[in-house]
Amino acid sequence: MLEWTSWIETARFHSPLRNGALEEQTIEVRRDPLTGHQSIYNPALEGKISILFPPTDEAYLEERAAASAAACFLCDGKWRTMTPTYPNELIPGGRLIKGESVLFPNLFPLGAYHAVVMVGHRHHRRLDDFPEGLLQDALALAVDFVRRCRAQTPEVRYFTINANYLFPAGASVTHPHLQILGGVEPGTHHRLLLEASKAYKERTGTRYWDDLTASEKATAHRYITEIDGTHWMAAYSPMGVNEILAVYPRAADFSAWTEREIQATAVGLRNVLRGYHALGFSTFNFSCYSGPLGADDGSFACVLRMVNRQNVTPHYRTDDYYFQKLLKNEIMILRPEKLAQHMRAHFL
Ligand SMILES: [Zn+2]
Repeated sequence: MLEWTSWIETARFHSPLRNGALEEQTIEVRRDPLTGHQSIYNPALEGKISILFPPTDEAYLEERAAASAAACFLCDGKWRTMTPTYPNELIPGGRLIKGESVLFPNLFPLGAYHAVVMVGHRHHRRLDDFPEGLLQDALALAVDFVRRCRAQTPEVRYFTINANYLFPAGASVTHPHLQILGGVEPGTHHRLLLEASKAYKERTGTRYWDDLTASEKATAHRYITEIDGTHWMAAYSPMGVNEILAVYPRAADFSAWTEREIQATAVGLRNVLRGYHALGFSTFNFSCYSGPLGADDGSFACVLRMVNRQNVTPHYRTDDYYFQKLLKNEIMILRPEKLAQHMRAHFL
């Protein structure tokens, strides 16, 4: 059984905004049923998102995009000479190409495998302009790459597919891209997901991700929709701003991904990005976590988490400070239930 833990904390102070009157603010704290990750919601911030997330400065964004385009090592076919290549044993020819997308090694890898996928020829895209077909090609390259890695080094079993978009989200290049990481052990949060899923299965006899999906679908508060057997929802206790969570019940790991998972992910990402754009956000991160390749013990299903980051604006303040980075909490600026309601319109 899932435990939806939450509680209320009360803060009291004399507010200069109310002529010194005593003010009471209630803060809702939520705990993720699997990982215990905590998020807070303070209704006093309702309608005041711009205090924490100032709107995107569109002119500044255009200016930064134009300034970085000239030096971009991916634009105008420069990837053909400027990007590294894999040994022929892994990828004959060194790079994988599909449509407008190209996969090549990261020059400074963070793991045994660390590939980059250039997502299309265009240097800069608004969040409402990531077409399904483009994302499908990029994701297909990522999955193809994971298969090749597995064939060459079966001991490297832990893979994630990730993205940073624009500099407040940690991207060093503006040009849209994905990153695929593979190592002999999972990263910190990846390991937590795998271990907690395993412990849940041992405790309850069921797979957490099936129970989560069934429960969220039944109550419908945070459930958005199903896309060809993949489930999209707002996270109960998000790990970042406006977190959307997708669950892949058919695929315990990336080696089980078919065209269906690739297409469903492309459609889901496109829709979430449209929804983020409509909320006025301009940046994002996502990570898609796979179970250990070819070692399904029935406790895990692939999961994707997607969040917004601070908007593009000059001298922006990071959205990741002590509360998030060191205390490992998050602030909900929109109630997940409200976020799900907003997103449903972009999944029609
Ligand atoms: Zn570029």
